Amino acid sequence: MSTAQSGPARIIRGHTVSFDADPHEAGPDAAVRAHSRGAVVVARDGRVLWHGDYARMPTACRELPCDDYGKALVLPGLIDPHIHFPQYRMLAAPGKDLLDWLNRFTFKEEARFGRKRHAAAAAEVFLDRLFAHGTTSALVFSSVHKVAAEVLFKAAEKRRMALVTGKTMMDCNAPDAVCDDPETGARESEELLNTWHGRGRLRYAISPRFAVTSTQAQLELSGQLLEAHPDCLMQTHLSESAGEIQFVADQFPWSRDYTDIYDRFGLLSPTSLFAHSIHLSRRERQRLSETGSGVIHCPTSNTFLGSGLFDIGCITRGEAPVATGLATDVGGGTSYSMLQTMGEAFKVAMLNGRKITGHEAFYMATLGNAKLLRQAEVTGSLDAGKWADIVVIDPEATPVLAARQELSESLEDVLFSLMILGDDRAVRATYVAGKRVHGRRPR
Ligand SMILES: [Zn+2]
Repeated sequence: MSTAQSGPARIIRGHTVSFDADPHEAGPDAAVRAHSRGAVVVARDGRVLWHGDYARMPTACRELPCDDYGKALVLPGLIDPHIHFPQYRMLAAPGKDLLDWLNRFTFKEEARFGRKRHAAAAAEVFLDRLFAHGTTSALVFSSVHKVAAEVLFKAAEKRRMALVTGKTMMDCNAPDAVCDDPETGARESEELLNTWHGRGRLRYAISPRFAVTSTQAQLELSGQLLEAHPDCLMQTHLSESAGEIQFVADQFPWSRDYTDIYDRFGLLSPTSLFAHSIHLSRRERQRLSETGSGVIHCPTSNTFLGSGLFDIGCITRGEAPVATGLATDVGGGTSYSMLQTMGEAFKVAMLNGRKITGHEAFYMATLGNAKLLRQAEVTGSLDAGKWADIVVIDPEATPVLAARQELSESLEDVLFSLMILGDDRAVRATYVAGKRVHGRRPR
């Protein structure tokens, strides 16, 4: 017998698509569970109660209220494992390269997040924008200000969203308005962590920005925090641009390479995630692989800032494979859309002589990213018991997509066309913990 809370509340109908495994390893057919006339039954507590073919749905559920999306795809919500909250409105700022972009635009904009009113209003816009793009969960860099992380946690809690974030730590090579000091950074991080980590669906990420803007003392304290709280995530940036790599080599002359700096301070671990990681040596890939660390590919950011071409074949599928996520990196990234991000990842892979299929891209944006964020037990697929974080994607959302589907013969065709041609216009509806939080009318 189900309790009142775990009892059924609503049916979501459509072409359901959910991954059990990585299609690159398991093969596309074995990795996916898809039902062209599928249904997801959502419980009153916001979790998935049942997923499968509508014709096989328990008869007791048939009288429930139903959101029927016809031929539209019903997928687990998209997950963005690297995005910057205080850059929410500064997309398309034309820097010469990463360091120029940070100094000319980014630090000035992030300085505004020390004001609570500004940060609180921004948090509402930011999270609603994620929902409008079908993103239901994210690992987020906040600003250096404790108050900005607090208002972001509050806004996510109100939405019952699985959000991981943390106060950015940075104590050098940036304006005073966006700098802390090692002791303050560590103390405020710990205070936030004690308040928010594990509260509802929220978790904390220890967040030193990168080796450019942290002294040895700050990296050392970051490592100590991670050691004391190994269930928290650790996020930072690694090996993004040539200028940055040279800068950290000068700043840390004892280091063997960029990865070695983080390694020295205990920041490589199974819960550590390194954004970009484009220009890694074999030794660096080896260290990341053997410590169980993950890297995050941010293709629209990498092409926009001219940072380089992440080689998914070498890093993810090479002799020392490193778990790899896919993310927007807004505002260095040029789109909130994980669909556009997948499309750019495909193009970057092509320039490296590699391929990414539609199945592989959608796996990465759902279960793959959930695994990377250590939350696959509760998100990333439509399995019963997980939270009903769901995105409904219309393969015929635009005239160009609709015409393309006339030629589609398989699920791969549909997924591939969406990753190349799709954006937020294709997001018909978004659900978080079973509640519809975004919707748009069909064309
Ligand atoms: Zn970033």
